[in-house]
Amino acid sequence: MAESKGRFGVHGGQYIPETLMNAVIELEEAYNYYKDDPQFNKELTELFNEYAGRPSRLYYAERMTKDLGGAKIYLKREDLNHTGAHKINNVLGQALLAKKMGKTRLIAETGAGQHGVATATAAALLGMECVVYMGIEDTKRQALNVYRMKLLGSDVVPVESGTGTLKDAVSETMREWTGRIADTHYCLGSVMGPHPFPTIVRDFQAVISKEIREQMLEKEGRLPDVVMACVGGGSNAIGTFYNFIEDKDVRLIGCEAAGRGIDTFETAATVSTGRMGIFHGMKSYFCQDEYGQIAPVYSISAGLDYPGIGPEHAWLHDIGRAEYVPVTDDEAVEAFEYLSRTEGIIPAIESAHALAYAMKIAPDMDKEKLIVITVSGRGDKDCAAIARYRGEDIYD
Ligand SMILES: *Cc1c(COP(=O)(O)O)cnc(C)c1O
Repeated sequence: MAESKGRFGVHGGQYIPETLMNAVIELEEAYNYYKDDPQFNKELTELFNEYAGRPSRLYYAERMTKDLGGAKIYLKREDLNHTGAHKINNVLGQALLAKKMGKTRLIAETGAGQHGVATATAAALLGMECVVYMGIEDTKRQALNVYRMKLLGSDVVPVESGTGTLKDAVSETMREWTGRIADTHYCLGSVMGPHPFPTIVRDFQAVISKEIREQMLEKEGRLPDVVMACVGGGSNAIGTFYNFIEDKDVRLIGCEAAGRGIDTFETAATVSTGRMGIFHGMKSYFCQDEYGQIAPVYSISAGLDYPGIGPEHAWLHDIGRAEYVPVTDDEAVEAFEYLSRTEGIIPAIESAHALAYAMKIAPDMDKEKLIVITVSGRGDKDCAAIARYRGEDIYD
């Protein structure tokens, strides 16, 4: 595998100030030790199973399958995890690692607030201090999640720089970490940032594909033909892909947020519209303007609204191992409504991007083919926004 010293092909690396080098070296050494430590893995498995509710179900979506009339569709139900999404997998792993390293304090960035809530949850559980940095615009749009984080005992700091959104929250958290590394771990929320974060986060999320493999072999006696997931930074997607990368017959499909379309400026589809660059400590693909500045991005889904993609995805794209496809707001909203009424499952609007693409390809596939779609989270958080999208205001 083309992964050495935090490189995925030409992508990845550690493009960080000298003042952060010690922190990432300390983290890498600790991770290399604990990832193979039986006691660490025993404790993490206990947290996964007893606290987060793993393994998550692999559910045969029979009504959706029959209605679409093609491939057999399974849903990997990360929405059923404690806190309602896949984010808890990574956060429990990093919080436990930080604790073993003797850190007493977690800091994290958050966009819509899902990663912030998950981090605040892990901090409460493990008795750690927690500060979450959140763009000031996002604190207004996601007031309920701000309240949740405070309820869980965390401080929430509004970030006013830049556009006051996720990318600024990441930059601010990195700055804060530089100033206080002795007792503080930066719990990064996706497979991005400088090495070793993309590797650490991927390893903790890889439990998704480890389980899909076992569950599929048990239910169907063979591997799936297609596994797919939505891609923001790319953590639930790499978790879904990872244990299938060597199985060349398994198609890997990542679904990016096209927003209002990849031919508009209101998009967050990084692979479709971005170029190679260096940002947030890594080399990868980023949405950029004509001067190479990070472009403002847009999607109806706050969780996919990031101008970059994790370096391992950039590499899987370069070598042609995974496909990345754009899905618009319209298509995602339709899939959100479709799954709700067809299977009685309200998916996160992020996950609905993957569902929408499955709805496109499944009807043309043979009935014997098997598709697994990761439902990265539940959609309760999105109901007000989708109602508004449909011209209804549920808080009137
Ligand atoms: C945060 C989030 C995402 C996007 O993050 P990835 O790192 O790309 O997985 C997707 N779905 C849900 C439900 C999320 O909360």
